[in-house]
Amino acid sequence: MEKFELQGKAALVTGGNGGIGLGMAQALAAAGAKVAIAGRDEDKNAAALKALGAGAVALVADVADERACRAMVDEAARRLGRLDILVNNAGINIRRQPQDYTLEEWQRVLSANLTSAFVAAQAAYPHFVRAGGGKIVNIGSMMSMFGASFAAPYGASKGGIVQLTRSLACAWAKDHIQVNAVLPGWIDTALTRRARGEVAGLHERVVARTPAGRWGTPQDMGGIAVFLCSTASDFITGTAIPVDGGYSIQGG
Ligand code: NDP
Repeated sequence: MEKFELQGKAALVTGGNGGIGLGMAQALAAAGAKVAIAGRDEDKNAAALKALGAGAVALVADVADERACRAMVDEAARRLGRLDILVNNAGINIRRQPQDYTLEEWQRVLSANLTSAFVAAQAAYPHFVRAGGGKIVNIGSMMSMFGASFAAPYGASKGGIVQLTRSLACAWAKDHIQVNAVLPGWIDTALTRRARGEVAGLHERVVARTPAGRWGTPQDMGGIAVFLCSTASDFITGTAIPVDGGYSIQGG
């Protein structure tokens, strides 16, 4: 299907060296895009490059650092020759009860998960305008919609991602830039393996509430990435699409 092909397109996936980001980066590459991934850990970057195959580029960057984040976007465009796609996927969580967070912890989560997406999008904008359009995919969460006692800053950041997505979509539609959010359900990654260690009963609760009856995999996130980054989705902007095995529609 020609409309789903990404031949000639260049994509930057933040946090693309593992988990959901790597699942999406692999799908974008398989659809024909040139892909750059960015993360802080050089060993993870090197392992991801092997998984992505020839032509992929890995950048070392901390997206929570404004200057590094802007430089990352420019460097991706320089190394790939252009930039058409930005996947704002890098994210962290710190799990505590709300009364126990320090302000520094709150700000660390907000900077990594929300401010970074704004800064990277701002930095990508002139590259997209030069390319005649672009696609931004912001990664939200079930906690963009639901609360959790152990995730106040994370939930605030992921709620913010949905509203940021809508504002960017409104502003940049005239530039042929579509901005959408993906809300993953519970996906088996390093992040959630830690969560399962820290939150008693989480594994069982997720399986019980998910109609699909299982955790998702990073590969489950590939199809939505290709769709939202291809011309097949050119009339879709500002949405927040759950990819969750039905977790968010289970009523009883
Ligand atoms: P992982 O921990 O496996 O991956 C997160 C990635 O983000 C890593 O590759 C990490 O690379 C990178 N990263 C984290 N902080 C920074 C930073 N400051 N600068 C650059 N890179 C950074 O987690 P997931 O794959 O599970 O999560 C990916 C996204 O999906 C996150 O935004 C998360 O909130 C979201 N999500 C995940 C869900 C799940 O069930 N797994 C559910 C809903 C949302 P490095 O360590 O090299 O910096």
